[in-house]
Amino acid sequence: MSYETLSVEVDGDGIALVTIDLPGQSMNVWNEALMSDFAKWVDEFVADDNVKGAVITSGKESGFLAGADLGMLGGSSASSMKEAFENAFTLNSVLRKLETGGNSAKDLIKGNAHAKPVAAAVNGLALGGGLELVLASHHRVVADNPKLQLGVPEVQVGLLPGAGGTQRLPRLAGLQNAAMLATQGRPIDPATAKAQGIVQEVVPAGEVVAKAKEWVKANPKVTQPWDKKGFKFPGGGGAMDPRAVQFFVGANAMGQKETKHNYPAVQSILSCLYEGSIVPFDTAIRIESKYFTKLLADPQAKNMIRTLFINKQAAEKGAARPKDVPASDLKTVGVLGAGLMGAGITHVAVKGGMNVVVLDRDMDAAQNAVAYSKKILDKRVSRGKLTQDAADAFLAKIKPTADYNDLKDVDLIIEAVFEDPDVKADVIKKTEAVIGEDVIFASNTSTLPITGLARHSERPEQFIGMHFFSPVEKMPLLEIIPGKESGDKALAVALDFNRKIRKTPIVVSDVRGFYTNRVVPPYINEAMLMVKEGVKPALIENAAAGLGMPVGPLALTDETSLSLGLMLSRSTKKELGDDYQPTGTEDLLEKMVEGLGRHGRKSGGGFYEYPEGAKKHLWQGLSEHFPIADEQPSMDEVKERLLYAQLIPASHCLADGIVPDPTSADLGAIFGWGFAPWTGGPMSYIDTIGVEDFVRTAESLAQRYGERFHPPASFRDKAQSGEKLYSAAA
Ligand code: NAD
Repeated sequence: MSYETLSVEVDGDGIALVTIDLPGQSMNVWNEALMSDFAKWVDEFVADDNVKGAVITSGKESGFLAGADLGMLGGSSASSMKEAFENAFTLNSVLRKLETGGNSAKDLIKGNAHAKPVAAAVNGLALGGGLELVLASHHRVVADNPKLQLGVPEVQVGLLPGAGGTQRLPRLAGLQNAAMLATQGRPIDPATAKAQGIVQEVVPAGEVVAKAKEWVKANPKVTQPWDKKGFKFPGGGGAMDPRAVQFFVGANAMGQKETKHNYPAVQSILSCLYEGSIVPFDTAIRIESKYFTKLLADPQAKNMIRTLFINKQAAEKGAARPKDVPASDLKTVGVLGAGLMGAGITHVAVKGGMNVVVLDRDMDAAQNAVAYSKKILDKRVSRGKLTQDAADAFLAKIKPTADYNDLKDVDLIIEAVFEDPDVKADVIKKTEAVIGEDVIFASNTSTLPITGLARHSERPEQFIGMHFFSPVEKMPLLEIIPGKESGDKALAVALDFNRKIRKTPIVVSDVRGFYTNRVVPPYINEAMLMVKEGVKPALIENAAAGLGMPVGPLALTDETSLSLGLMLSRSTKKELGDDYQPTGTEDLLEKMVEGLGRHGRKSGGGFYEYPEGAKKHLWQGLSEHFPIADEQPSMDEVKERLLYAQLIPASHCLADGIVPDPTSADLGAIFGWGFAPWTGGPMSYIDTIGVEDFVRTAESLAQRYGERFHPPASFRDKAQSGEKLYSAAA
């Protein structure tokens, strides 16, 4: 038989070499074609007496198999839960047939039957359903490459490993290792997998197939350990083993502490581990598929798959890129300003394979960019993650300078000098005098309108905004801001640069604060207003953690600094004059910064104290100046206020076209300021609860706390028509 997605070659000894190689795709994934081909091959393999065993490998250099095609999972449209279960159980039953050779568990346990040997020859990453195929093989040979990833990352999109992963992993590696792998979703390397008993052989990359074949030939009749009489979980398992009982008590508590009850997948994984450990294997995989089906039917997994996987990848591949502009060849980038941002941008550009000429007012200042990268590289060298030679080669790609003539051959300019229009105007003029005529000029301004800055340029159609976040090498989002006159080429080149530095890009309008800085200030202001009202700071911070925010809003204010907040509120007031709408936090910021000298994390502490060598803690003195109220709101009330303080401004940005679509609003929120990832983003969240519900809650908050909670008029219309944000946008 011939297959579309795999090839089968049987050698003279009757050993089949099955090579998975999806046509036209850079990576193997479980899609419908492979599922169908593989199921057919398993049937044939089990039935054909001339074939004595099999080795499964991949024809891709990129890896073995990267898991399920998430587009297929996210789009699943079973008409009933029963049908959804049957779909989910398909791969489980195929893999079970492979490992049992089509025999019943009863016969295997009695020793009346055996399976034909199957070995996996893993030449590259095996993730999710890819690793699950490896686990269902009787013997696992992996290439000796410390960068090769083995893991089950499904939890990161709200799912669980649903092709036997929650059952074979604990039977091979013990409950604890299995729980760590499946609930955190982080991959391990081959050596760790071998130490945990997950794989048996780690051999040079060129030998995986030969070694796997050798094993198959030497072991003509096999049975998985869990299909043998007297099988016991390594490290203990089941309801009666005190070690397992203790493990489950601890793991459940830890799981809830880490996820704050926001990720049902973690709970389901632990349930699979527990329930699966007290029943026979064939029942255990049905239990797993039941939990998987439930998670897949929940909007949470669909939202996470859509935003964190499908839309993120599409944005990174350049979904917003004007198609007609030929691809640019960016070899050397000119960075203006070697301060915090310029140095960070220099670092990511070199990491993305480009050379950088970085210019500052004098050579000393320009050297800061080299020192910045050196510090990051030194750390990696000292941890053994990078060789000194590689670090030196990296630094050699940075050319610090104070001479504009050094910019004459660059392919792109990114400006990150002081946030002062006169300084920016000056460097724009001096730079344009030397660079090539068609070079795009991007500004990293955080507050100045791009259209205004472009007036200082002789070529406004080649001028654009590229708003990075600090620290640049860690923050995943890039806001790209075309000005009124920016042309297609400027946008295309900005996205081409982004692709090299591997950020998640969104394209937003040229308005004050762009997108993210229109949403974060109202959110942290809400927290400061609560401090003024006498809400306990710990309650505020814990409520944010409960929502799934990575840091509390008061800690975030400390990070960005209260002095910056004060400065921004004053400059906004000056600029807007009578149109300025007070936030109500001006007096608090003034008192904290000017009255009490509490500027934030970097100088003197802010809402928190930062003791040397110890963990930060909330500043006890705060209550002397902002007394705690006798009556405290409930946790749910505080959570709701903090959540809506983000949802409302984000929804205004969508309604006003500041972000072009719900996708960009969701990506910008999660990757820009850490909006709770379990929601799939603010717009996915609103769609999930329903626009009507959102509008009702917003209006009730507006009545209690003020105008700032009013939802946009267009959302009220959608609430009435029952329309969803995502379907309206599509
Ligand atoms: P910074 O003060 O750390 O660095 C600015 C650098 O520009 C300094 O090294 C300075 O010497 C140099 N510079 C000033 N005038 C110059 C001139 N005429 N010619 C050459 N170099 C000159 O500031 P930063 O935090 O890196 O911010 C830079 C830009 O990035 C600003 O526009 C800022 O608004 C924006 N930005 C900052 C952040 C942030 O979190 N700090 C985030 C996004 C955007």
